[in-house]
Amino acid sequence: MPKHLALVNSNSQKRNQLANLLFIEMSRNSILMTIFAHQDDETFSAGGTLAKHVNSIAVSVTKDINRETEFQAACVHLRTKPVILNFQTISTQNQAAIKENLIEILRDYKPTHVITHLEFDYHFEHRLLRTIVEEAIEWASHSTKIGGPGHQVRKLYAAETTVLIPVPEILIDTSKSNAQMVKAIAEYESQSHKGGEGFYAKFHAAKTKLRGIQASTDYAEAFTRVNLVEVGSFKPNKAMEYLD
Ligand SMILES: [Zn+2]
Repeated sequence: MPKHLALVNSNSQKRNQLANLLFIEMSRNSILMTIFAHQDDETFSAGGTLAKHVNSIAVSVTKDINRETEFQAACVHLRTKPVILNFQTISTQNQAAIKENLIEILRDYKPTHVITHLEFDYHFEHRLLRTIVEEAIEWASHSTKIGGPGHQVRKLYAAETTVLIPVPEILIDTSKSNAQMVKAIAEYESQSHKGGEGFYAKFHAAKTKLRGIQASTDYAEAFTRVNLVEVGSFKPNKAMEYLD
């Protein structure tokens, strides 16, 4: 191999090693929480990313007795802590109660990174939950006499279900955790054939492969960023020293 190509290769290997080390370090210091409407959204939308993080929690706002065992089993494959709230549906009638529950959960688990639904998802419960999550993150960050010190989530992302992101802002390389995601999908027998025989397994296999091609790797998951208010009079940080 010509000398200059060998140098390029060794440089890119070093860069990959460094990126891996940085990810492991970042992953140790971060707590990832997914907040989705239903048991199965965590696996279909962000399973590979959840499985990569050392500290992660998967919150399902609704509880469906037919999916509960499947959710627990999927979370074992994804090495994530399952949390199920006790709501049957997500509606304008119970959105205040859901918000209060989420504020408590955000303060208890103190996630640094949160993933939830897209604002243009076709599913009404997904769209409504996205709004509730944004509000819960804001209110969880306020220090109050009753609630104690606020917790500020650092980053909020939105993930794909079967509704795809036209231009992803973030692609997470899930090549090493894709097998765990495939096993987690297989646990959802009750949901698997809703769109036709093996629909979800086939759809998400093609989706993660497509995102992988976009990311020049084997498999990936796509996300968009959601802006958060990071500073303010009632928040832990009144102002920042530098741009973050
Ligand atoms: Zn859902």
